[in-house]
Amino acid sequence: MTEIPEITIPSSLLPADGRFGSGPGRVQTTFVDDLAATGTSYMGTSHRRPAVRDVVAEIQSGLVEMYDLPDGYEIVLGVGGATAFWDAATFGLIARRSAHFVCGEFSRKFADAAAKTPHLDDPIVVAAEYGGAPEPEEVPGVDTASFIHNETSTGVLAPFARLGSALVAIDGTSAAGAIAYDVEAADAYYFSPQKALGSEGGLWIVMLSPLAVDRIESIAASDRWIPPSLSLKTALDNARLHQTYNTPALTTLYLLARQIRFVNTMGGIEWADGTTRRSSAHLYRWAESSTFAQPFVVNAALRSPTVATIDFVSGTPADRVSSVLRSNGIVDTEPYRKLGRNQLRIATFPNIDLEDVEALTASIDYVVQRL
Ligand SMILES: *Cc1c(COP(=O)(O)O)cnc(C)c1O
Repeated sequence: MTEIPEITIPSSLLPADGRFGSGPGRVQTTFVDDLAATGTSYMGTSHRRPAVRDVVAEIQSGLVEMYDLPDGYEIVLGVGGATAFWDAATFGLIARRSAHFVCGEFSRKFADAAAKTPHLDDPIVVAAEYGGAPEPEEVPGVDTASFIHNETSTGVLAPFARLGSALVAIDGTSAAGAIAYDVEAADAYYFSPQKALGSEGGLWIVMLSPLAVDRIESIAASDRWIPPSLSLKTALDNARLHQTYNTPALTTLYLLARQIRFVNTMGGIEWADGTTRRSSAHLYRWAESSTFAQPFVVNAALRSPTVATIDFVSGTPADRVSSVLRSNGIVDTEPYRKLGRNQLRIATFPNIDLEDVEALTASIDYVVQRL
């Protein structure tokens, strides 16, 4: 391990808040204070009673409002995060065979989960080089097409489309609450709340079209064995009562409801989309004009508005830069572990103000000049 150089960034350059992680993402501290102030009225009370069910109902109606979802769409929640949703989908959403459009570690994990599922046929995988994204194309013989909206491991905003009759499942984990999309092109748009939605982990949420609800019900009526904790039908039945099947973390629900209300008050998904695009545009412009940095994603149309991946030239070690930043209170700028690039990965979620992103690039410049 090389020593971290002792560089003190002047406080006038530092961001007001040093959290730039892509997951868990920045949580609004006022929401944490408000949660603490609920005292005995919420934390430590039953998730089957109004104090908690009202929060779940607020999450559901808040998402309908945020995305202006058409009639018949339903919001379902379950315990275990997006990773558990992949497993639930292999049991309850994919009928026989899925196609997976893969462009990074997260989209690959769902493809791998489907490939190992004994009751499914081998999935079709359409993969792109990391840093790019596959073009949506109709894949014959599949009943489910799986896309990722924003590949958090590479910082790619990937295209998706409804093609043929396949049900469209989209991993929106680092996009939900931040990036607008054509809701009618998705049947199952799912996410965890600890990324752009600034809550805690441990929960998955899916926004289901009527087509997806039909699929879940018809698979549940078949003779396929489904583990109860991964049953989408059980989750759906509970969601209609503003509950989860088993006990959720109440902090996660509270912070999620507050963040959704915040985004809706600010102007909804269009506002969130605008603010993340402004912050990420600053980063990409800064990298393009820098002598030591450049955006990892070459095709500007595929650059993520919420997770910016910035490559450094070989003479500028990104790991040392992020270590110095960390010692100055600027945390979680390291790249996705398995990508293995000389890179910083910086979230520009709606909770991260443009001023903080500007202060971050000024701080990076200060550090690199002194390495
Ligand atoms: C973080 C992430 C996941 C996994 O979420 P967990 O809550 O850890 O299960 C899945 N997909 C994407 C795109 C992610 O960013």
